[in-house]
Formats: sequence, C-alpha cells, structure tokens
Amino acid sequence: MSFDDSEKDMSVEGSFRDKKNNGKRMVFKKRFCRFCLNKIEPDYKNSEQLKKSISERGKILPARITGTCAKHQRMVASEIKKARVLAYLPFDKQ
Ligand SMILES: [Zn+2]
Repeated sequence: MSFDDSEKDMSVEGSFRDKKNNGKRMVFKKRFCRFCLNKIEPDYKNSEQLKKSISERGKILPARITGTCAKHQRMVASEIKKARVLAYLPFDKQ
C-alpha cells in the first residue's frame, strides 16, 4: 500500500481496520501458573516471590489475575498468611 492510497481513502482504511478486529476477536492472554512453570512452591520465607501475589495494598490477588492455578493459589494464600504473622508481608492497609 502506497502513502498516496492511504491518504486518499482514510474512511476505507478505517473500515478495513474494524473488519480486521472483528475477525480477530478479543483473545485474552493465556496465563500460566508461575509456580507450575518454574516448578517452585510458594514459601512464606520468600517474601519477594509472595509480593507478586499481593496488591499494592497488601491484599491477596485472585488467581484469575495472577494466573496462578487453584492448587498453588491455595498454597500462596496460606503462605501469605504465615508471612504476615511473621511480618514478612503487610496486612491489608486501609
Ligand atoms: Zn500451579
């Protein structure tokens, strides 16, 4: 496509783009459980690792956001709770 064509047919280009998007559909990024992927288990002593599973406010992020599998999400949740008690991680900040 030359520059002359795109300048002349702005509307045509726009509709072409729309068609492209419709054909492609909204595809969500396939996430993988990073614990399964790296073959690691959540560990309350590894606060750097657990910090990836909590929000800025210190809340545990749901598995659908982090992509963690159900098995590891359960482990992460219990490890985070342990880490909080031991002051490795903050409790929910108001
Ligand atoms: Zn997993």
